[in-house]
Amino acid sequence: MTDTPKPARALGRKAIRPSLVPRALMTDVPDLHGVWKAQVITLFPAAFPGLLGESLTGKALQDGLWQLETLDLRAHGIGRHRNVDDTPAGGGAGMVLRADVLGAAIDAAQAGTASATGSGGNRPLIYLSPRGRPMTQALMQTLARADGVTLICGRFEGVDERVLSHYGAQEVSLGDFVLTGGEIAAMALIDATVRLIPGVLGNQASTAEESFSDGLLEHPQYTRPAEWRGQTIPDVLMSGHHGEIAKWRRAQAEALTRARRPDLWRAHLARHDDNDT
Ligand code: SAH
Repeated sequence: MTDTPKPARALGRKAIRPSLVPRALMTDVPDLHGVWKAQVITLFPAAFPGLLGESLTGKALQDGLWQLETLDLRAHGIGRHRNVDDTPAGGGAGMVLRADVLGAAIDAAQAGTASATGSGGNRPLIYLSPRGRPMTQALMQTLARADGVTLICGRFEGVDERVLSHYGAQEVSLGDFVLTGGEIAAMALIDATVRLIPGVLGNQASTAEESFSDGLLEHPQYTRPAEWRGQTIPDVLMSGHHGEIAKWRRAQAEALTRARRPDLWRAHLARHDDNDT
């Protein structure tokens, strides 16, 4: 082990197929100007791109429609053992990620940002945390319009609070449950955001129709075979009448939303009242 921190790994055009050689390809990929970029500060850089390297997000990563850079928190650890955590002030169970270690990693991420874009770029700093605001489609749309994001993945009991206030990090949650680390939440955020970047999905129309884009859950979907275990596809979908099909889908979306998500339904009604007045 040397004393020089390991360089950040950047993933983009040159990366990534599941194979025996990908690690080498992930290092020192030059920044692609104007391309949405996720920087992930993590103790487990080898977990990335993971699923993000598959299917549509993986193809888009290879095609340079977005970029992924992991920053290994361990590289900024203290001493021979590269310690990153310590016991909580005031006592209690578990360990907390140190402010100085995490601060150094954030500085490294933001230094890279500034030199790469020349402007510093608009990359919100987000700490994945159960205390954060819940992830929503609206947040993903906002993030997709930024230049990228810098994500902090916590571990153990979390991170020293002073880092969050010093950098003004936003906290964002995957849901009301506790994960062992922020990496899975970071991947969910990146996946949901990257698919909104133009060109990433084959069929752009599908983002306009799917769940949440109009504040409603999506209508049911069917495909072949026309009959399966005694169940047929609703006649209207087989009718070829596009107007009737659209009306049916809309009614289904409204009924589902009203039944399953009264909160979304109320917000939907309120929006429509506003539009009417
Ligand atoms: N002691 C903390 C939980 C720590 S869990 C608490 O009670 O709030 C360890 C790490 O997992 C956190 O630092 C955070 O980065 C991540 N994490 C856990 N649950 C999460 C969630 N619901 N959303 C996003 N990140 C989460």
